[in-house]
Amino acid sequence: MPIQNVKGTHDIIGAEADVYENIENLLKHIATVFAFKQVRPPVLEHSEVFVRGVGESSDVVRKEMYTFEDKGGRSLTLRPEFTAGIIRLMVQNKILSNNELPYKAFYLGPVFRYERPQLGRYRQFNQFGVESVGHDSPVNDLEVIVLAYVILQSLGLENVTIKINTLGDEESRDNYRGALKEYFASHLEKMCPDCHSRYELNPLRILDCKVPEDQEIVKGAPKMSNFLSTASKERFAFMLKSLDELQIPYEVDEGLVRGLDYYSETVFEFHYTSKTGNNYGAIGAGGHYDKLVKELGGPDLPGVGFSFGIERLVSVLSDDGLVNIEEDEGVAFYVMPLGIKSQVEALNIANVIRMLGYATDMCFDDVKLSSMFKRAEKKHARYAIILGENEINNNEVIIKDLSTQQQTTIPMDILEDRCIDLMSQEHQCDCGCEHDGDEHEHHHDGECCCGHHHK
Ligand code: AMP
Repeated sequence: MPIQNVKGTHDIIGAEADVYENIENLLKHIATVFAFKQVRPPVLEHSEVFVRGVGESSDVVRKEMYTFEDKGGRSLTLRPEFTAGIIRLMVQNKILSNNELPYKAFYLGPVFRYERPQLGRYRQFNQFGVESVGHDSPVNDLEVIVLAYVILQSLGLENVTIKINTLGDEESRDNYRGALKEYFASHLEKMCPDCHSRYELNPLRILDCKVPEDQEIVKGAPKMSNFLSTASKERFAFMLKSLDELQIPYEVDEGLVRGLDYYSETVFEFHYTSKTGNNYGAIGAGGHYDKLVKELGGPDLPGVGFSFGIERLVSVLSDDGLVNIEEDEGVAFYVMPLGIKSQVEALNIANVIRMLGYATDMCFDDVKLSSMFKRAEKKHARYAIILGENEINNNEVIIKDLSTQQQTTIPMDILEDRCIDLMSQEHQCDCGCEHDGDEHEHHHDGECCCGHHHK
């Protein structure tokens, strides 16, 4: 049997890769408009970054990390999320002391989690997200939520529910953990083994347990809102009031605790149900953090961020019919060498045209002209360039318009000019406007009256 891809990974090919790229470009563009700067931390980090950053009580660190010892005996981990690595990057590069704060960064790339693969859940998947670090104003948290909301709107996703909650400050959470310990102590016997270790490490994690019997017990647990400090209560009330003012709809969900340990104060998730009623759960999530920067050796500064799973975005967009799989635009030119001897010259000609910026391919097989035309058709080529030994000897080429079937023989030295002429005719239309190419498309609001492709 041929070698298969690793369980939980997936191949992204051709038109689907274009879909990913279009979505990613839109996300990057919006983050840039919000004045976030791109950062690219490495995929590999010292395991400590995540153990200290994400926290030992999280499932991600306890069960899901791809951790190994390298040949130098270092414990390394393929990033299971971006935030901790980005804070490491900011601290190490003194970004937080050399810039006006908050420092606003966005990221995109693969992350790795050893989870049970199922629909929408991979072991290697892609995340796009932002971190805004170094400013404690709740307005800073709000800006990040607004950005996520604008992204979802721009993608055309209508059925998004923003779930929001507060985990309070450290004092609030200490009090709450105490109350949870007291409550769960008498139920622990009946609960799953994972909840036993959650009880010891961080009883807040029990609220996230997916075992149905445990969920029943969780329903009776004390609520965070009863343990909030005055400052945390006021901060959360401000957040909700401001979201109302900004007309961003939300649902307060007191059960929302998030799976990563660094969060405090406001946390949120974006849930999605497609038009056909498929519930995709969380397509993105994030929140505020207070101790992470200090934990990773930096100054005592807070931050806020979110991340979207690109695979989930692609799934919901496809389900809702919002994915534009662009028709294969094909190549502008297809070069046909007649006979093996003409192939290198054909490659040379193809390269000359490519340097003009027109997509060009060539035939690598010594086959009959008729099958070369079939291949040109499959490639959706506009023009064929035919090159036999005669043409080479005479320093000529034949250009054939594959839609009109007209062909002309031209001297090689005017080939570039002819290609430019032909392609600019493609861009001309009889609507009378003076716009060209892409500009022309914009002028016509994406649709051109002449039926030409203006790419
Ligand atoms: P998290 O870092 O756990 O908050 O996850 C952020 C987002 O990444 C989620 O809302 C999902 O969209 C996506 N995500 C998380 N885990 C997976 C996975 N195993 N496969 C695909 N997407 C995921």
